[in-house]
Amino acid sequence: MSLLSVIVPSYNEEAAIPIFYDAMQKVGKDFADRFPEVEFEYVFVDDGSSDRTIDVIKDLRAGDARVHYISLSRNFGKEAAIYAGFSKAAGDYVVCMDADLQDPPELLPEMYDAVTAEGYDSAATRRVTRKGEPKIRSLLARCFYRLMNRISDVEFVDGARDYRIMTRKMVNAILELGENNRFTKGIYGWVGFKTKWIEYENVERVAGETKWSFFGLMGYSLEAILGFSTAPLSFVIALGFIVTAFAFLLIIFVVIRTLLFGDPTNGWPSMICIVVFFAGTQLMCTGIVGAYLGKTYLETKNRPIFIAREEE
Ligand code: UDP
Ligand code: MG
Repeated sequence: MSLLSVIVPSYNEEAAIPIFYDAMQKVGKDFADRFPEVEFEYVFVDDGSSDRTIDVIKDLRAGDARVHYISLSRNFGKEAAIYAGFSKAAGDYVVCMDADLQDPPELLPEMYDAVTAEGYDSAATRRVTRKGEPKIRSLLARCFYRLMNRISDVEFVDGARDYRIMTRKMVNAILELGENNRFTKGIYGWVGFKTKWIEYENVERVAGETKWSFFGLMGYSLEAILGFSTAPLSFVIALGFIVTAFAFLLIIFVVIRTLLFGDPTNGWPSMICIVVFFAGTQLMCTGIVGAYLGKTYLETKNRPIFIAREEE
């Protein structure tokens, strides 16, 4: 027998969870035919929902002992919820799925096949289209992936989802990364392992609403950059060198001009431009360094990634 743990981070998903569970039951039947050795386990992570999500999960558990849950003491965010799910999952294989059916359960048999018969450690999914999503969001996402691949050693796959099946070995590796600043897609990439990519067309969520606001996504991108690249710090150093070299040339120019032509005391506008320009660059650079320092500060506190209120 082999146990497959399905992790479902859920934040205010009272409407979506029953639909998700029904869809999974159907897939479970396909599984039973194709892979009779597989047993399922569900780990719902209630990420501090303010609606009836936890009651809905408990109802499911009353009728199905394979349903487990862990309810967090507040909203810790999807990344922390996934970690909570991983730490609770007992499966030989673990898959992480959104509650809103945007991660098509029909792909699951193919994914399972990849990590068992085909010898991969993980099978990951990526959306090749972003239909149903605001144009500007797709554009920014594309720019973000291009940037990340340039400035980070870890591979970032455009359209990659958190929907991924993994062997126990890979899950244990992920659990060892105990950082608080968790950008799961980057963490998946960082731990490595042989991954098969499965592509599919974007699906819109079945019920409820997306939890992402524009600024939420901006913050998420910033987390990724701070968590997986120190390129901005190198940028600060490079900028420092360039500006210093420029200042040096400027000094030579001013000294020679004064020696040749005396000091005609004008040049106030250019002086102001220079002062403002340098004040700006310095603030920006201090800010970049500060962003890393802030992250370091939070990490050194070594706080737990999540706190469970109840679990079963
Ligand atoms: N989610 C979560 N905690 C949060 C935000 C989201 O556990 O703070 C869950 C949410 O319930 C869903 C998944 O993460 O199962 C993806 O969220 P959503 O559908 O809002 O994101 P999108 O698909 O729009 O990227
Ligand atoms: Mg979604």
